[in-house]
Order: sequence, then structure tokens, then C-alpha cells
Amino acid sequence: MRIGLDFDNTIACYDSAIARLAEDMFDLPSHLPRTKLGVRDYLRGQGRESDWTIFQGELYGPGMQYAEVYQGALETMLLLCAEGHELFIISHRSKTPYAGPSYDLHEAARCWVKQRLQSHGLFSKDQVYFLESKNEKVRMIGMLGCELFLDDLPEVLEDADFPLTTRGILFAPVSPKELSSTHFTTIGQWTSLPPLLTAA
Ligand SMILES: [Mg+2]
Repeated sequence: MRIGLDFDNTIACYDSAIARLAEDMFDLPSHLPRTKLGVRDYLRGQGRESDWTIFQGELYGPGMQYAEVYQGALETMLLLCAEGHELFIISHRSKTPYAGPSYDLHEAARCWVKQRLQSHGLFSKDQVYFLESKNEKVRMIGMLGCELFLDDLPEVLEDADFPLTTRGILFAPVSPKELSSTHFTTIGQWTSLPPLLTAA
């Protein structure tokens, strides 16, 4: 089976990267949760929206070095490959940050893929696609003939142009039970993916 995988917040987990980078960049109150929402709401509350934008450029650029492979993702991807499935990364993220230094965010992601995934024998060059818009991403899912696509964003799976022949799976590690739809099946952890292939 051809299986497409989203990248940000599906394969790459930013929890510890956010905590570490926020600590480096800002003088945060000690009680503040070092989470995406904690940091974002704190900066917004102080009228520092632009700092939040700059933070995201750092996070998806050089801060990627602190990002981790989601729990269970590496083992699951290796298992699926061993079973003969073909895996593709199909991601959309902006090429350069909206503010701050003009890092090449696609290159930062490709570098991370090389170090964290390709070093394990996963993903050849023609199995990795970083695109700039959701439209391009959805089109690529169809062009590659993915029979299944895993993403953390419902709006990708519910997109009007999402291929009818692709089964959408939502990755929702925080609240898997609250998110359901006729468009997709929801899983809360990577290890729930392989059983779905046989159940389908
Ligand atoms: Mg994502």
C-alpha cells in the first residue's frame, strides 16, 4: 500500500523543542507552562504577537534540531516498510519564516529527515515532498496515488480536493476521542496505525 504521511506534528513532535527554545529566547515567568499554547498566549497577552511569529521561524528552522520523532512513529514506519508498504512524506510548510531571519525551512526539515529518519533506512529522496501550500499537498497525495494519508490537521483530510480514493486518518495524540468525522478515522498514537491497514 502507498501510505502518505504529514510531517509537522505528525512525524515531528515539537513539545520539547518549544520548551527549550522558549526558555532560550524569552524571559518567561516560572509558573508558565512551556507549551505551544502557554507560550503563545503569554506573548499575545503582552501584545508581543510579532515575537510569537519570530519564534515560529526559529522553531521550524534551527530549532528543528530539538524536535523529536513522535513516540512510536519510528518503530511503526519501520514495521510498515518491512511489510512492504511504500511510505511518503508529503508536507506543506512555508519556505521562509513570516518574520525574523530568512531561514530555508524546507531545507531545515529535509536535514532533520536525513538525520532522524533516513539514517534508519527510511524514505529515499523521491519519497519526501515539502510543498508550500495545502493545495499543492493535496494534489501531491493524489498524484502519488496514496491509498492512505495520516495528518494532524482535519482541514487537510476534509479538503474539497482531497482524493476520494485516499483514506484519511487523523493523528490526534491529545484528544483522539473528541475528533471524529465521516471524512476520516482518528488515532491517538502511531502504533494504532498498522492494525487499521488490515481492518480496512
Ligand atoms: Mg501537520
